[in-house]
Amino acid sequence: DATAPDAAASTGRNANGSGGTDTMVVADRIVKSFGSNVVLKDISLSVKRGEVVCVIGPSGSGKSTFLRCINHLEKIDGGRLTVDGELIGYRQRGDKIYELRPKEAAEQRKDIGMVFQRFNLFPHLTVLENVIEAPTQVKRQSKAKASARAMELLERVGLAEKAKAYPASLSGGQQQRVAIARALAMDPKLMLFDEPTSALDPELVGEVLEVMKQLAKSGMTMIVVTHEMGFAREVADSLVFMDGGVVVETGDPREVLSNPQHERTKAFLARVL
Ligand code: ADP
Ligand code: MG
Repeated sequence: DATAPDAAASTGRNANGSGGTDTMVVADRIVKSFGSNVVLKDISLSVKRGEVVCVIGPSGSGKSTFLRCINHLEKIDGGRLTVDGELIGYRQRGDKIYELRPKEAAEQRKDIGMVFQRFNLFPHLTVLENVIEAPTQVKRQSKAKASARAMELLERVGLAEKAKAYPASLSGGQQQRVAIARALAMDPKLMLFDEPTSALDPELVGEVLEVMKQLAKSGMTMIVVTHEMGFAREVADSLVFMDGGVVVETGDPREVLSNPQHERTKAFLARVL
C-alpha cells in the first residue's frame, strides 16, 4: 500500500500489495551456544529475494550451525532471525516471544529447501519416489500431480531417465542432483546448501555446480556454504567470510577474494586459493 510508507518500511513489506518482502533472510545478531561453547557469537547478514550469498570460512567456524538455525534444525539463543518477514522458531505477541510448537515450525520449514554435503536420499526408494515423498506426505499432493512435477524437476537437473533407478546405482554427482530436485519439489522460497560438493569426487563437482548455477539464474534465493571459490566468484551476489562464530567480512565476491580487507580473511584465502 503506497499510502503507508512507514508501515512498509518498518515491516520490510513491499509497497506493491503482494505482501512479499524484498529481503528474504535477515539475521540480526544471532547467538547460538552448545553448552558453554558459543558457536555463533554475533551473526548479522541479510539476503535479498533472488540473491545468492556464498558463505566461506574455516572448519568449525559455525557455517553449518547458521544454516541449521535458518532451517529449524537448531534454535537460536539470541538475536533475531526472519525468513520472508516471518520470525523463525518463535512467535511474537506484543512484547512476549513464544517458541513455536513443532507443528508450526514444520509449517515454516516446508518453504525452505536444504541440500547437505552427504546426499541423504532414501535408499529404499527410487529417484522419483524420493522426489515425490515430501510433496505427497507433507503437502498431501496427489501422486499424479507430484510425479508430473517431479519429472519436470528431474528433467531440469538432467536425470529424467533415472526416475526409476535406486540411489545406490547413481554416482555421487547424480545423487546430489536428485537431492536438489527433491528439495525443489516443495517449491521452496529459499534454498540452503551446506557444502554440496565437498563429498564428491572432483570430476563430479562441475555437474552439481552447473545445476546450482542454473537455479541461481532462475531467480532462486540461495545461501551456499562452499569451498568452491570459482562458483562464489561467478555466481554469488555477495560473499560472507565467517570465522569463530562471527561474520568477519562480507562484500562483492570478486572484491573479497581479490582484495580481502581483514587479516583473518587474507590468511584463510591464502590457505585455500
Ligand atoms: P562449520 O560448518 O563452519 O565447520 P559447525 O557449525 O559445524 O562449523 O560447528 C561449529 C562448532 O559447533 C564446532 O565447534 C562444533 O563442534 C560445534 N557443534 C556443532 N553442532 C553441535 C552440536 N549438535 N552439539 C555440540 N556442538 C556442536
Ligand atoms: Mg559445516
